[in-house]
Amino acid sequence: MSKVIVYCEHTGGNVRRASLEAIGAAASAGAEVVAVLWGEGASGAAASAAGAAKAVCLTGDATFSPDAVAAAVTEVIQSEGAKGFLAAATYRGKDLCPRIAAHLDVSPFADCIEFMAAGESFQVKRPWLAGKALATLGTTGGVLCATTRLNVFEPVDGPGPSDCSEHAISASAKATVTSTEAKADAKLDVNEASVVVSGGRGLQEAANFKIVEDLAAAFGNAAVGASRAVVDLDWRPHGEQVGQTGKTVAPQLYVAVGISGAIQHLAGMRTSGVIVAINKDAEAPIFKVADYGIVGDAFEIVPALTEAVKAVKAQS
Ligand SMILES: Cc1cc2nc3c(=O)[nH]c(=O)nc-3n(C[C@H](O)[C@H](O)[C@H](O)COP(=O)(O)OP(=O)(O)OC[C@H]3O[C@@H](n4cnc5c(N)ncnc54)[C@H](O)[C@@H]3O)c2cc1C
Repeated sequence: MSKVIVYCEHTGGNVRRASLEAIGAAASAGAEVVAVLWGEGASGAAASAAGAAKAVCLTGDATFSPDAVAAAVTEVIQSEGAKGFLAAATYRGKDLCPRIAAHLDVSPFADCIEFMAAGESFQVKRPWLAGKALATLGTTGGVLCATTRLNVFEPVDGPGPSDCSEHAISASAKATVTSTEAKADAKLDVNEASVVVSGGRGLQEAANFKIVEDLAAAFGNAAVGASRAVVDLDWRPHGEQVGQTGKTVAPQLYVAVGISGAIQHLAGMRTSGVIVAINKDAEAPIFKVADYGIVGDAFEIVPALTEAVKAVKAQS
């Protein structure tokens, strides 16, 4: 069984769900998973890396230097004789993966939605051309390095490793993170939420996003997203933008409110599980990718939907 190294981010003493999904991707291809963790609390969090046979904790760099950590992960990949490297397509995963691929002289594959065994090695599937095509990609002879799209793979339902061996970071840091600040609000990030309710220019003005926020709050596990048009208008922060120049999301449920469905928006959400579109124009392109389409005025439909969701939640 070939080995795959999975870089695992952790918070509050536990491996983040996005990284558990990356382990799930490796496990879905029958790989033996080695979890690599960095930072304070890594050894404690390692046990929660469900599906990993083994864990390696990186030591010796308290401030996180992406280049020094990438060099250390590369050393682990080489010493384990791994045929694959995976990280979740988070900011950190997107930062580390190409650096590691460069060390190994292979191409990194971003935002993959399938991970498959191919003999002793691996292949991935990832959307191409703004999601209009799916490419199957592999590497000849080298280690396959990829990031996994969030909310696509299932974590492994099983135990994590019983201990964590240490690997010292030895490369000198060219760049270091000097400080980090938690976001002022603890809102769920749009690409980690299992439900995303996004609003577009059809909402007419920033204050009207209240109906989108109310619907998201009724679901409970939802984040608010936005089209670029409304981000450009300063109605919503860029962190909420979904699409080609924003975030790529794949929640179980994506609700698009007053969004036309331009190709650049679809690029960021078309792999969502179930897509619901609410638009007063029956010809809007969003309906071509929607599983359920509601033609009508968002200001009538969204509040009614919010009440319906609340009623269902109250019964459960
Ligand atoms: C290089 C490049 C990158 C881009 N990247 C992105 C990106 O990452 N993400 C992104 O979203 N866009 C991106 N865009 C912009 C994209 O092309 C569209 O302009 C944008 O997505 C349109 O946003 P919208 O659907 O909110 O607005 P509009 O296109 O103006 O659509 C508004 C919709 O609301 C509907 N509507 C109006 N009133 C109501 C109502 N009362 N009830 C219900 N529906 C109503 C209308 O019928 C219409 O369909 C990019 C463009 C370029 C060129």
